[in-house]
Amino acid sequence: MKRLSLLLLLCLTAQAGCSKTEQQSHTRTEAQSQPQPRNIIFMIGDGMGPAYTSGYRYFVDNPETKEVDPTVFDRLLVGTASTYPDDDTYVTDSAASATALATGIKSFNGAIGVDTEQKPLQSLLKHAKRLGKNTAIVVTSELNHATPASFVAHNNSRGNKDAIANDFIDIKINNRPTVDLMLGGGQQYFQRRDRDILQEFRNLGYQSATELSQLENITGIPAIGVFADKGLARAIDSDTPQRLSHMTGAALALLKKHSGKAGFFLMIEGSQIDWCGHANDIACAMREMDDFARSIEIVEKFIQENPDTLLVLTADHSTGGLSLAADKEYLWRTEVIAQQRKSLAEFSRDLQSDADPGKSWQENFGYPLQAQELLALKESQASSEATYDAVVRISSRYSNTGWTTRGHDAVDVQVFAYGHGSELFRGFQDNTAISKKILQLMDGILTH
Ligand SMILES: [Zn+2]
Repeated sequence: MKRLSLLLLLCLTAQAGCSKTEQQSHTRTEAQSQPQPRNIIFMIGDGMGPAYTSGYRYFVDNPETKEVDPTVFDRLLVGTASTYPDDDTYVTDSAASATALATGIKSFNGAIGVDTEQKPLQSLLKHAKRLGKNTAIVVTSELNHATPASFVAHNNSRGNKDAIANDFIDIKINNRPTVDLMLGGGQQYFQRRDRDILQEFRNLGYQSATELSQLENITGIPAIGVFADKGLARAIDSDTPQRLSHMTGAALALLKKHSGKAGFFLMIEGSQIDWCGHANDIACAMREMDDFARSIEIVEKFIQENPDTLLVLTADHSTGGLSLAADKEYLWRTEVIAQQRKSLAEFSRDLQSDADPGKSWQENFGYPLQAQELLALKESQASSEATYDAVVRISSRYSNTGWTTRGHDAVDVQVFAYGHGSELFRGFQDNTAISKKILQLMDGILTH
């Protein structure tokens, strides 16, 4: 049954008066017989529009069997969400959308945890922290990138990366930083010449690691792992393509062991699905989807063993205007996509100084170029932009993948949920409603 709390909405829109509200809702919760989920896991596939989950189903399908097997996305699908920002466009960026998902309030493109008046907003993560839960963030982007930042920081521009990194340690709840466990990239922002935030975390008793191979050395909470200067290597280019699922498993084990009765709030982002979409690189995107899907399966298993846990999963927007066919041809060639060895970005960079681009093409994509295509590719080597455009054009034609933009589009995204309270996310909703429902569930105001 749904019961809205005005006090709670006040808490969402203004920092002041929040603790009183929380106290009241907490008391009310304890009086109720229906318990709220102890643990909340919020997963975001950055840029993961509906074509990405359909594409992933066909990408991993076994062509030997007649039926197309459903994926974890198909199993957990419950609804859809609109993503438009509070701006003069229907097309959101990751900052406005992450702010909506993190706080329940729409804002302008570029906004990190602030409203259209540029006032700081309360986030789900910080609310969870105030309720005594352990809080955690696991991403493959920089920790201070738009999506995770919107759960922690407040800034008028996502581009202020140093200031946003500072917020990770400067904003405190009960005299402690707001996130107890952070795994991702962004070392260059957390270990700067002017400020060594990583060391400051160590001084506060955080365990730390700077190599993904040292993740096992983190044995407790609080802890911070920054595993790359900026984002982690793309799955398709990485020696450890399952890095998000690896970090997800480690985070869940730590949170399970070190969270008390209050449980935990964990935000996991498949950050680079979006980056591959911007790059119009379908093989890159499908490899990111694979790591993300494995992470979801780990969470799914965790919930089967810990049913007092809620998973809500969505995308912040879709990227690239991806379509799974193009040019009137009724074909989408997953076998061509599966053969690609390096990302288009890495391949194009190497191609700039390549004396034999035809040979390199065959090695990277598994098929030879026609004479015309090879000529066009050689001509494009004059500029890096032209090379990239040629590589996208030719490789997309072979897989018959369509892209209409190098940016985002306004199509609705899917909503997936599993576990305690998952049925509350069924049907169509705005992205802000997802956040509000999670917050109300945490407070026991929304029950099921
Ligand atoms: Zn994007």
